[in-house]
Amino acid sequence: MSGPLRWPVHPAPNDGEALSSWLRRIAGCYGTDIEHLGDDIGYKIDAGDLDDVDLAPPPGMIEVLAERTGVAPARLRQMSVAGSVPWLLDDMEPGPEGFPTYTRQLSVLRPAGKQKARVVPSWRPWLPDRLPARGCPECVAESPSPHPYRLLWAIPIVSSCLAHGCWLEATLAARSYFGMWDFDRPAPSPAPQHVLTLDQRTRDAFAVGHVELPRRRVHAGIWFRLLRTVVDELSCPLSENRPADTGTIRQIWKEAGYPARDGQGLWRPFEQQPETVQRHTMEAAAVTIALLEAGTITGRGCGAHLFLPEPDLELGDGRTPAEFSKSQPDNLKALGQALEEAIQAAREDPAEAQALYAFALIGCRTPESVTRLRADFAELGIPLEILSLTDGQASFA
Ligand SMILES: [Zn+2]
Repeated sequence: MSGPLRWPVHPAPNDGEALSSWLRRIAGCYGTDIEHLGDDIGYKIDAGDLDDVDLAPPPGMIEVLAERTGVAPARLRQMSVAGSVPWLLDDMEPGPEGFPTYTRQLSVLRPAGKQKARVVPSWRPWLPDRLPARGCPECVAESPSPHPYRLLWAIPIVSSCLAHGCWLEATLAARSYFGMWDFDRPAPSPAPQHVLTLDQRTRDAFAVGHVELPRRRVHAGIWFRLLRTVVDELSCPLSENRPADTGTIRQIWKEAGYPARDGQGLWRPFEQQPETVQRHTMEAAAVTIALLEAGTITGRGCGAHLFLPEPDLELGDGRTPAEFSKSQPDNLKALGQALEEAIQAAREDPAEAQALYAFALIGCRTPESVTRLRADFAELGIPLEILSLTDGQASFA
């Protein structure tokens, strides 16, 4: 390979664009294809299988592309799924411990700790073996060929295009190629508001690292796990739930317009479901959140309250908590402010989270109090996945 020559012409990456899509557009500038572009930078890229590039580019490729284009490596990393580790997923490598760690630490519809244990060998969240080939008909119509492809279209965690308010549609061709649509483009079909609301939150989690819920802001790492927990609760065989929870889950599916569990007989994790079942399940998850927020259903899990509005608290003497706090001596005010700052820092910085957790753990004398502490951290929007999972086995004095 010759030295790191800069490509004199290249399009800037679009907001949210997948890495393979941008490479295809660069190749288009030079009248070549993505395979030849790969040869030029010393990497084999299979045009028929772009998943490798969009999941996790091979080591060194980001740095070479940064040299060739002048685009910052951090920006390029965000164009593949690996750029979202550890928030969207703990690790790109599938593993047997991933499923319970990711989907069972939180709870929304069912009481915590009541789920039947499941072992899913070689699992990672949200990613099917083959990434789906979907797109927004309007976005594609508005863009010149070769049409850019958004990374989120390839992850079944969203179902709609927020810019156009419509469902994503299967492209009927290899992912990132829209040849069929040049002749027969599907008509855009409006997505319901509850789906758009859910997808807006998920987009926010990717774009800004947090989501504003009615009660408080939660970290993206919590949001992705909370959503996958709801998906799990909606997908489990109904006989595994207590009757009251079964009734709620049936009500949600009915409201979504589908049979319970979308009529699936056997249990399989969401990632291994057919695409239509995935879409219906995400729609049911959106209905779940809308019903929780409206107070129509009550979730019995520890995370359900996140979807309730902040209560208008008044103390016995009619003062709000903020007014009460203002009236406190300065040293207590300072303590409260220091704690607030420590919590905010822990939401954003894993090292701060670990330090605060270690400090809070000093007061825990029983396994139950550790469980409570972890629930409190989740409620405060501090990501749990960065905390040591072995502290549950710590010895208690
Ligand atoms: Zn669109």
